[in-house]
Amino acid sequence: MNHLPSALIKAKEAALQASKSVVEAGLEAEVDKQLGREKGERRRVRGQPHQSEWKCGYCGCQDANHFTRDGHYQRNLETCWGHMHALRIPMVECQQCGHNVICDFTLIEKFQRWKNSPAS
Ligand SMILES: [Zn+2]
Repeated sequence: MNHLPSALIKAKEAALQASKSVVEAGLEAEVDKQLGREKGERRRVRGQPHQSEWKCGYCGCQDANHFTRDGHYQRNLETCWGHMHALRIPMVECQQCGHNVICDFTLIEKFQRWKNSPAS
């Protein structure tokens, strides 16, 4: 009894892959929320300032009207489902100064808390 059924390994990988999609969708939703608009929707430059919880790391701007999506970067993340490889993390750029906005994703914070807290 020393072989793990390959079906089980495949199922585990599939579950991890599915969780990864869920996490990525969750991150996209957080960007939408912080920017106060759906993906592809135009910036409301003339509208009311939309206060974001996120902040430009350079000029400190928190008005989401000046923030735009700026592609993705990839990172690995330890989660309760296992090691997620090359998770696509959205990036946001500040149009005031052209620097990156510091995105404090609550999802990623959550994973980091789990990882750092002793298993109980
Ligand atoms: Zn800025």
